[in-house]
Amino acid sequence: MAMAKCKECKQEVSSKAKVCPHCGVKNPTITAKDQFVGAIILVVIIAGLWIWLSGDSEPEKAPDQIAAEKTEPQPSQAKTLKGGYGACISEDLFDQLTSAAVNNDERAINYLMSNGCLMTKAGVPISVLDTSWGTAKVRAYVGDQAVVLWTNIENIQ
Ligand SMILES: [Zn+2]
Repeated sequence: MAMAKCKECKQEVSSKAKVCPHCGVKNPTITAKDQFVGAIILVVIIAGLWIWLSGDSEPEKAPDQIAAEKTEPQPSQAKTLKGGYGACISEDLFDQLTSAAVNNDERAINYLMSNGCLMTKAGVPISVLDTSWGTAKVRAYVGDQAVVLWTNIENIQ
């Protein structure tokens, strides 16, 4: 067992001793210098962890988690369309498209698809402007054009 001198009474104590057996001081072999070095190392570790945690690696989210966040729109977050869902240039048209889809009304769907609605492609960059009741209002970026669309909340990823 390594021996060291007590910082208080200068008598030999085990370097692992938590209390000096001679004078009773706590941590007899840990000097103020050791504590200072320890504190510096701790700060470096915390700083390293902080940099690592605040890195640009965005936590991955499952699609159902995104749907669960529909009450908290996050316009600043870069998202894209999943594709395969209809989207319309107004909320009213999107409501009509939704009921046409629910009623399996193919004529109405076809009419709306050539009058203000479209089938979205995957990977279109968007900003989420608003979400409510399963409907999302998004700004979609196509080339250098931006268009406001209403679509299913499931269409956002
Ligand atoms: Zn001592």
